[in-house]
Amino acid sequence: MSLQAGQLDIREIVLKNIEKDEADCRKLGIPHRFMQLSAFSPTTRNSHADRHGLLFTGDEVRHWLAEDDNAIGCKCSFTLALVDSSGNPQFPDVLDRTTSARKKFFAERQAGHH
Ligand SMILES: [Zn+2]
Repeated sequence: MSLQAGQLDIREIVLKNIEKDEADCRKLGIPHRFMQLSAFSPTTRNSHADRHGLLFTGDEVRHWLAEDDNAIGCKCSFTLALVDSSGNPQFPDVLDRTTSARKKFFAERQAGHH
């Protein structure tokens, strides 16, 4: 499989946004990660839904998108998440919400709804 033009564009945009956020945070000295948010669509791969609500560094996101066919047809988004100096999220409530959304998706998929 290879990337088609439209899909490549989407990945380029994702990577550009990450770079911009990283540059802003670095300039201001703000510790940060990126939270992956799955689209939870019928075509969402389990390996993508698995990462919903998890925090990654910009490098980790870049490596993951470059691996295998992860970027192909990927509708995940990566949103800036502010963390403390040990890498823990500033807003832990968000993690509770994304964890329950992830569990719900897999429960429904298991039941054959997706
Ligand atoms: Zn994805």
